[in-house]
This record gives sequence, structure tokens and C-alpha cells, in this order.
Amino acid sequence: MKTIGLLGGMSWESTLVYYRAINVGINSRRGGLHSAKIVMYSVDFEPIERLQQAGDWRAAAAILIDAAKAIEAAGADFLVICTNTMHKVAAEVEDAIRIPLLHIADATAETLRNDGIRRVGLLGTAFTMEQAFYKGRLADRHGLDVRVPGRADREIVHDVIYRELCRGKVEPASKAEYLRIIGALAAGGAQAVILGCTEIGLLVGQADTTVRLVDTTAVHVEKAIAYAL
Ligand code: GLU
Repeated sequence: MKTIGLLGGMSWESTLVYYRAINVGINSRRGGLHSAKIVMYSVDFEPIERLQQAGDWRAAAAILIDAAKAIEAAGADFLVICTNTMHKVAAEVEDAIRIPLLHIADATAETLRNDGIRRVGLLGTAFTMEQAFYKGRLADRHGLDVRVPGRADREIVHDVIYRELCRGKVEPASKAEYLRIIGALAAGGAQAVILGCTEIGLLVGQADTTVRLVDTTAVHVEKAIAYAL
């Protein structure tokens, strides 16, 4: 079994989900007392969030590169960055280490392709919903037709992530808003909706809607387990 490198803390609320789900997944396949071999580096999210707001991605990348190098030096065989948004600097991190990086958008696109889905809605932070590193990668590299909510709804989705989910708050009113937005994306033709932020699964799940949801955290976890085994 390979050792999984987790670069987490963005936010720790979702890193907790990764840690548990990876261990549950390894144990369900291997049985007994088997658990995952993990090296985890969990960053302080506050300075990173400030750098995101300031658009200083170079400084944010430097923090992630230091963490990734520490993970590699500690013996991880591959790297999993436990956030969609910070894949904005995935290429810089990848260049700084020798171990492979499992890109969350590529893993998600692979799942969609296997399920024959081409028209897809995307929820996440404003960075993820609007920028080339994520929305563009799904479209250009994977040929997906990616639809995002309108401006006002993108703001709601973004604010709920930073003001509530990353702080461990799960509000019924926000869940209702997310479900409304998911329904609107489906009504507009999306065959599935990507939960493209690793905390969204804390708020909504497949049991809440008939719209097919693709949770990037779950997809990334499955990919990491498969790669480790
Ligand atoms: N975890 C979130 C994501 O998947 C948002 C927090 C962040 O900015 O990294 O995008």
C-alpha cells in the first residue's frame, strides 16, 4: 500500500472528511485492522484565505509548496491537495516536488466521463466557478459543457462556503438556497451538478435531491484509495 500525502486545512472541516473517508475506504477493502498510510500537513487557513482575497496567488503557492515538500520528505508516495480552489496553484506545487499530484478536477472529469455526462453544473468558490484553472480545465481539457449559476447565486454559494461551511456552520436556510440553485442548474439542462468545493458535502447530499450530484471530495477520496492500493 502506498503512503498518501494529504495537504489539508483548507478548511480543516473538509480535511476531516478526507481523513475519515480514506481510512473507512481502505478498511472496507482490506478488512481487519487495516487503515490508510497517511502523511498529513494541515495549514493555517486564515493567511491563505487573505492571500486569496488579495489575489496574491504566488505567496499562497509558496505556503503550499513548503507544505508539499515537507509531505514528500516525510515519505508520501503521492500528493492530494484537499481543496478545489487551491488547485489554482497546483502546477506550481507539482513542479516543486517529484511525487505525483492527483488533480481533483481531473478525477472529477473522469467520473463524469465514465457516467456519460457532458453538460454539468458547477458549484464552488467564485475562483473555482469563474476561472480557467478549474472551470476552464473541465471544458478545455475534458470537453465538458460547464454551467455556473448567475452572478447573485454565485455570490450566495461563495459566501456560504467561507462564512459558514469553513467555520463548521451548517444552516438550513443555506441548504435551501443551495438546493434551489442546484434545481435551477438542472432545469437549465445540466445532467449533473459538481459539488466543486470540498465543504459542500457537509451541507447537501444525494439524499436531498433527485439531481445527480458529483461530490469532488468523495471522488478525490476514491481516487486516492485506488492509487494507494
Ligand atoms: N475547500 C474549498 C474548496 O474546495 C474552499 C476553501 C479554499 O479556498 O480552499 O475550494
